Amino acid sequence: MTKDFAGKVAFVTGAASGIGEAVARQLAERGAKVVVADLKLEPAEKLVGEIKSSGGEAAAVAVDVSQIDQVEKAVQYTIDTFGRLDLAVNNAGIGGKAAKAGDYSFEDWHKVIDVNLNSVFYSMKYEIAAMLKSGGGAIVNMASILATNGFANAPAYVSAKHGVVGLTKAAAIDYAKDGIRVTAVGPGFIETPLLGSATPKEVMDGLRSLHPVGRLGQPDEVAALTLFLLSDAASFITGSYHLVDGGYAAQ
Ligand code: NAD
Repeated sequence: MTKDFAGKVAFVTGAASGIGEAVARQLAERGAKVVVADLKLEPAEKLVGEIKSSGGEAAAVAVDVSQIDQVEKAVQYTIDTFGRLDLAVNNAGIGGKAAKAGDYSFEDWHKVIDVNLNSVFYSMKYEIAAMLKSGGGAIVNMASILATNGFANAPAYVSAKHGVVGLTKAAAIDYAKDGIRVTAVGPGFIETPLLGSATPKEVMDGLRSLHPVGRLGQPDEVAALTLFLLSDAASFITGSYHLVDGGYAAQ
């Protein structure tokens, strides 16, 4: 494994599970110092232990990304622990309740928008300030295939993810000359706990069939694209949204 991220410090939210966990593992394998930030501290610390026992460098921090003060503290923790910030992956997210727009409760709407969209703004605000001090950086925001496509019974999730892509474009333009690249990743349906272990087999089969490749994606496949966008190989890529969707959007 090449250590092409050696010397870089990365902050990954929602890193204790699924896609964020795969991103954190791959970054550490390739030499980055990684802060594993998650609502759930115990699995975050477990992952940090595994990374360290494989020779990597990592630290865990508890954060609710929908809370501004907690996000500020988590980014500050990264700087206090590793001295700087170069890379950020704003990945924490929830699926939210399944209901049509007319039946969606205000409470559920605000929860999904807070965790999936407002959190990305809060995180970027503090990440950008830190990256300006580090002389530049790269941010990847975890959107979804539902950032450009609609989906039944998911008005808040679809709206939040469309917003994430808009925020990505706006910030990319504003900080391009400061050497901060901002991109978004749009996964199709990925086999992670977010889909729910209790999801009935026929629903899972239905989700698989939405992808021309005939299967769900794996967290490592999303992480591979994310790391490419974070890497210097993507030096001319900013403000763009990149699919990893098994052909979903091609239909
Ligand atoms: P996951 O449930 O496996 O992991 C999400 C992680 O985020 C968990 O560790 C959870 O504790 C954490 N988290 C949740 N709320 C948080 C909060 N308020 N503050 C901090 N951490 C919080 O889910 P995943 O599938 O790996 O999803 C990661 C991202 O990818 C999400 O933004 C999701 O919307 C997006 N995504 C997932 C899929 C999919 O099919 N799994 C598809 C497209 C996009």
